Amino acid sequence: MTRYLLFAFLLIATSLASQAQSSLYMPRDVQQAYKNGTRSPDGQPAGKYWQSKARYNITITATPPSRTIQGTEEIVYFNNSPEPIQYPTFRLLLNIHKPGALRAGNQDEDYLTSGVHIDHFTVDGQPQTWPDPNGFVLHRVKLPQPVKPGDSVKFTFNWHYDLSITSNREGVIDSTTFYLAYFYPRIAVNDDISGWDRSNFDDLHEFYSDFNDYTVTIKVPANFVVWGTGTLQQPETLLQPAVAKRFKESFTSDAVIPIATKADVAAKNVTTQNAVNAWQFKATNIPDMAFGISDHFVWDAGSTIVDDATGRRASVQAAYNDTTKDYPHMVGFARNALQWFSRNWPGIPYPYEKTTIFQGYAGMEYPMMVNDETYGEDTALARLVAEHEIAHTYMPFYMGINETRFGFMDEAWATSFEYLIGHAANAEVADRAFKEFRVAPFVKDPAAEFEIPIITPGTAVTGSGLRANQYGKAALGYLAVKDLLGDATFKKCLQGYMKLWNGKHPIPWDFFNTFNRLSGRNLNWFWNNWYFTFNHIDVAVKSVTKTSTGYTLTINNVGGFAIPLDVQIVYADGSKETLHQTPAIWQKNQQLATVAIKTSKAITSLLLDGNIFMDTNEADNMWKAPVKK
Ligand SMILES: [Zn+2]
Repeated sequence: MTRYLLFAFLLIATSLASQAQSSLYMPRDVQQAYKNGTRSPDGQPAGKYWQSKARYNITITATPPSRTIQGTEEIVYFNNSPEPIQYPTFRLLLNIHKPGALRAGNQDEDYLTSGVHIDHFTVDGQPQTWPDPNGFVLHRVKLPQPVKPGDSVKFTFNWHYDLSITSNREGVIDSTTFYLAYFYPRIAVNDDISGWDRSNFDDLHEFYSDFNDYTVTIKVPANFVVWGTGTLQQPETLLQPAVAKRFKESFTSDAVIPIATKADVAAKNVTTQNAVNAWQFKATNIPDMAFGISDHFVWDAGSTIVDDATGRRASVQAAYNDTTKDYPHMVGFARNALQWFSRNWPGIPYPYEKTTIFQGYAGMEYPMMVNDETYGEDTALARLVAEHEIAHTYMPFYMGINETRFGFMDEAWATSFEYLIGHAANAEVADRAFKEFRVAPFVKDPAAEFEIPIITPGTAVTGSGLRANQYGKAALGYLAVKDLLGDATFKKCLQGYMKLWNGKHPIPWDFFNTFNRLSGRNLNWFWNNWYFTFNHIDVAVKSVTKTSTGYTLTINNVGGFAIPLDVQIVYADGSKETLHQTPAIWQKNQQLATVAIKTSKAITSLLLDGNIFMDTNEADNMWKAPVKK
C-alpha cells in the first residue's frame, strides 16, 4: 500500500513536471476565453468568437492656415457581442493634447491645445448631453436603452479641435501642410478578452481598432491636395485634366511619374479651381483612416504588381516638400518594399490598393499611409524607416493587434521584416544597423527593466523596458524561431497564423498555439524561454575536450535565452570552419548544450558568435587550445 501510494505520488509529480514543461503561463482572461468558447487552445478562433464593427461616415473641413478642424460624423455600430451594451466607451484620442492629460513624456507648449470639443451628440436621432466635456481620452456614455446582441445603434457627432503646432504622429507640418490622424470620435474596441478597451492613450503605447467601414470627405480650399487612406472617389473632378491623366497612368505604370511638380504647384495647375473641393475616400474592413493635406507639396506616383497570382497592382505615392534630398527616391523605395514583402517575408501579397509616404515629423504607420520625417542626405535611413512603417501593414493592420497590450505582436514583426528586407539587400549593413539600433541598447545596459518578460502586458510596462520588449528583444525571439524551424516550416506557420487571424484580434497565446499546431511541434519550451522569462543573452564556452571522433564542445547558457549561434573554428593547419547551431541545442537542457565536432584536425581556437544575438559578455565566448610546452 505504502509502495503503491509512493508510486502514485511519483506519477502525479512527474506528470505535473511535464505539464509545466509543455504548457505556458496563461492568465485568467485567456482561460476564460477558452471556457467561453470564443478561442480555441489550438490557436484558432472558436465557434463563439465575435468582434463588433462600425460604419463611419465622416466629413471634415480644413482651411489652413487656420488650425481649427471642423467635423461631423455618423457612426452605425453593430453589437456582435453576446451581451447587451448600455455603457459603450468612446475614445477622443486628441485630448492627449489637453493640459493635464496623462502623458508618457513631457511636451512643450506648442503641443498643447484645448482638445476635442463635442458640439453636438445624438444617439439614434435623439440629442444627448455629452457627458464629462472636461474629460480626457476615455468617455463612458450611458445609452437611453441597451443595444441588444445583434442590434445596431446610430451615433452622430459634431466636433471641432485645433491641430497642435508640435507635430509627431499628427499635427501641423507647416502653415499650409497638415497631417490628420486620430481626428474623429471613435467607439472603443469591445472584445472577448478585456471587454471595452479602457486603456489610456499616453502617446507612447499605441492603438487598438476594430475593422470598420469608412467614408471620409475632406473639404479644403482650391489648390490643396488630400492624400489618404482609401479609394479616392472621382479624382477627375478634383484634379485638372493633365494631372488627372498622369495620376490615372500611374496605376498601370512601373515608372515613377511626377503627378504634380513644383512648376505645376506654382502655376496652380493641380486641383480643380472651385472655392472648396470635397475629397472623398472610401475603405472597408480597415482599422483606421489618416490624411495629409498640402497646397505646396509635390506628388510622385507609380505602381507595382503585388500579387503574382492575379496580377493585382498597388499604387505607390509620395507627397513632400520639393527641397528634400531623400523623398524624390521614396516611391522607388516603397515600391521595392511592397514587392519584397509580398514575395518574400511574410510572403503575403500587400493587402491594400496603395500606400502613400507623406513627409511629416513622425516615423509612423497608418493603413495605406506612412508619415516619415526627411533624413536629408541619409537615403539609407529614409529607406529603412519607410520599409519598417510599410511592414506594419501586416501587423498590426492586417491582423488587428491590440498594440497597447501586446506591442510585441506588432512592432517586433515590423522590426523583423525591416531586418529581413535589409538583409536581402546587404547582409553586412543590415546586421550592423540591427545590432546598433535594435539590440545593443538593451544588451549593453544591465538594467533590470530590460529583463522583464516580453509577455508582460504593455499597459504594465513603460520607458526603455517597453521599447526593448516590443522591438529588438521580441524580434530576436521571432528570428530565433525562424532559425529553429527553418524557413519553409516557419513560413508555413507564419502565413497560416496570418491567414487564420487576418481581420480579427489575435492574442499571444493564439500565435504560440497556432505555431505549435502548424509546425506539428510543441514549441512551448521555446516560447516559455523567450517570452515568459527574465532571460538575457549570454553564452560561454564551458569546455572543449578531445574525443575519438574529434571534440566535444560544452556551452553554458549563462543568460538563458535559447539563441542560435555559430561555432567558428580555427584549425592548426590554418583552415577555418563554421558550425551553425539552431536554438534546438537548448531544448533538452536550457542551461547546458553539447556540440560534437567531428574532425581529424587539431583545433587552435574556437569562438561562439551569436551575430545579431549579441552577447552581454563576449569575454567567455572564446576558447584557445593550451600552448604545448
Ligand atoms: Zn514600428
